[in-house]
Amino acid sequence: MALDGRELTLNPAEVADLRASLRGQLLTRGDTGYDDARKLWNPAFDRKPALIARCLGAADVTRAVSFAAAHGLLTAVRGGGHSLSGQSACDRGLMIDVAPMRAVEVDPQARRARVQAGALLGHLDREAQAFGLATTAGTVADTGVAGLTLGGGVGRIGRRFGLTSDNLKSVELVPADGRWVRASEAENQDLFWAVRGGGGNFGVATCFDFQLHEVSPQMYGGQLFYPLADGRQLLRHFADYVATAPDELYVDVVLESHPKLGHVVNFDVCYSGKLSDAERVLAGLRKLGKPLQDELGPKTYLALQGSVDTPGFSKFGVYVKGGLIYGLSPALIDAVVAVMESAPSDMVEVWFQQQGGAISRLPAQATAYWGRSASHNMGLVGAWPAGSPDAEGNKEWVRKAWAQIEPLTRGNYVNIANTDDRDSRVREAYGDNWQRLQQLKKRYDPANLFRLNANIKPA
Ligand SMILES: Cc1cc2nc3c(=O)[nH]c(=O)nc-3n(C[C@H](O)[C@H](O)[C@H](O)COP(=O)(O)OP(=O)(O)OC[C@H]3O[C@@H](n4cnc5c(N)ncnc54)[C@H](O)[C@@H]3O)c2cc1C
Repeated sequence: MALDGRELTLNPAEVADLRASLRGQLLTRGDTGYDDARKLWNPAFDRKPALIARCLGAADVTRAVSFAAAHGLLTAVRGGGHSLSGQSACDRGLMIDVAPMRAVEVDPQARRARVQAGALLGHLDREAQAFGLATTAGTVADTGVAGLTLGGGVGRIGRRFGLTSDNLKSVELVPADGRWVRASEAENQDLFWAVRGGGGNFGVATCFDFQLHEVSPQMYGGQLFYPLADGRQLLRHFADYVATAPDELYVDVVLESHPKLGHVVNFDVCYSGKLSDAERVLAGLRKLGKPLQDELGPKTYLALQGSVDTPGFSKFGVYVKGGLIYGLSPALIDAVVAVMESAPSDMVEVWFQQQGGAISRLPAQATAYWGRSASHNMGLVGAWPAGSPDAEGNKEWVRKAWAQIEPLTRGNYVNIANTDDRDSRVREAYGDNWQRLQQLKKRYDPANLFRLNANIKPA
């Protein structure tokens, strides 16, 4: 399929030439490995690309991008495969898959990590923690470094060290002209600005160079559960508690159904300050009400980073809507608790992922990521067993419930964007950075080859 949706017929000799020129494989329907390679974390999507280029290095990526651009092919780019909107695969186009490129090299003296674009967060955490180091990563270990970093990257130590993308020293990528470039504060500064939050709009990343930080491998955290029935009062008190939280404290809030405890408010905590201070800092959280279950205690950073993992692919189709909030207002609390009370199944959840701290101390124009002053990014998720006929009904329920919540949000995080969001949502995500991003998109991708993302249309 072409970029404009037309059917294309590729010359078999050109496809054979592409196959021969790659170090990795070029897979088409029926090839061994094709069905595994096209699979995404979210089984709501079952997309069948015409071609999958399984890249083993930057040379393969430049070849695949040049081929896509020369033929004007619909192009999807896959890193860790955790796209919530399913756009890292496509029907009948070319999927450029960097998943086989997974090397992570840590230089403990320089406190830097060179990370290939197919690596998962757990790979980076594990290699860095071997030296007592870490950088901000997301909260689920098998999310991809590439998609998460390019869109921003929010996680357990982000309030201390900023977004994952704030810790980038340089990125190597292949823009739409197929020429490999490095972007940093010293080289291609505009592009470097754009890829730190601009998502997959500017090219295929092949390698990232991150700043690492010394962090204690021994932290304090885990999950603290309260009954959702007390949700309104709890969250109002929590809003006061969290407003003065130190940078070392990170608390995700999840309104969900627990297999044993029923409907709960789950505070998922990581305290990365001095262990001896943890109990004091967390006393206020423990006193919000009468907990159903308290699992807080000393834990390693790696244990916390893997604590909500369900390794591999999700068994549940997932549909999400998300936005940014600027404090947990009483109106928002009432709206989310009411939505949870009216949920049609136990497979609905609302989460609040905490920002603030170092993330908010950089100006919003410092990188493409605009939503720095938000207190949280939040999401409303509906899920269903993969393959169940309930998918559409679940999605429709989420859309209707989100209509109650969205007016209480402002802007959004592109890594949670969905394909049926209205067009203005992407512009809202980028605020005053929008025009500069559109200009840069025109310079680096005038034909909008990289359009399967929260898309920035060229100026
Ligand atoms: C279970 C789960 C937990 C999550 N937790 C967090 C969290 O804690 N913090 C957070 O910030 N986000 C989180 N997210 C959102 C996450 O950041 C995005 O889903 C992200 O896009 C995943 O990256 P990926 O490489 O795994 O995805 P993929 O599906 O491989 O790619 C997603 C998109 O990223 C782009 N992309 C991927 N690889 C490249 C590349 N090499 N070059 C250029 N563009 C590329 C493409 O546009 C692609 O469509 C979570 C998502 C899930 C499903």
